[in-house]
Amino acid sequence: MTASNTNDLTVFITSRTSRCDECKEDLGRHAWITLQGEGRAVCLACADLDHLVFLPSGDTALTRRARKHSRLSAVVLKWSQARKRYERQGLLVEEDALTQAEGACAADAATREATRARAAERRAELDEEYVTRFAARVRELYPGTPKGAKRDRRARMPQVQRSRGSQWAAKALDEDAVRLAVAAHVRHTETPYDDLLAGGCDRGDARARVNDQVAAVIRTWKCSSRKTQKPANTEPQTRHC
Ligand SMILES: [Zn+2]
Repeated sequence: MTASNTNDLTVFITSRTSRCDECKEDLGRHAWITLQGEGRAVCLACADLDHLVFLPSGDTALTRRARKHSRLSAVVLKWSQARKRYERQGLLVEEDALTQAEGACAADAATREATRARAAERRAELDEEYVTRFAARVRELYPGTPKGAKRDRRARMPQVQRSRGSQWAAKALDEDAVRLAVAAHVRHTETPYDDLLAGGCDRGDARARVNDQVAAVIRTWKCSSRKTQKPANTEPQTRHC
């Protein structure tokens, strides 16, 4: 498999009816010919190119490889009436070269697939790390958050973060971002907000109607868990908000 593009020949797809200047056969319209010596049209059989197979343009990697593996190859050009120029249609290459190139590209596809899988794994790890860090941050800022709610958020939050990268994750852990996330969670789970929306209430109105409720829940979540879980408030360790 010597790589030698100097062997590249040119094959034309004719637009007019043509005839082979060697075997004298009528080739009809759209014949595939080569031009040899003084503009003589020669059919592929006479030019000894009829053993080559046609690989249409489009797959760059496959074309590059097939050409590299083919001792003999020919660029196929066709006259474009509209653009007034020859346009490349593809490549004639040896069948073995094409088979070899297809094999290499398939192996590549497998490699690409493996690379993609590894990248997805890394993203998943990032998500996992992010989930843990987010949960810790919520515990820190809202120690009174019920355990169930925390679990729910841990399940929900990473969806937002997916595929955004670690910089975004770091930003998402700042106090404001956590506050907004917690408020959204409270709105959806601790108030009739979703029912209001389902009932056709305008989003702004619905938010306005549950705002006080959201604020009240968040106030309790900001306090120590003991206070939230035991509103009787008899524990000596209870902190005040
Ligand atoms: Zn001929």
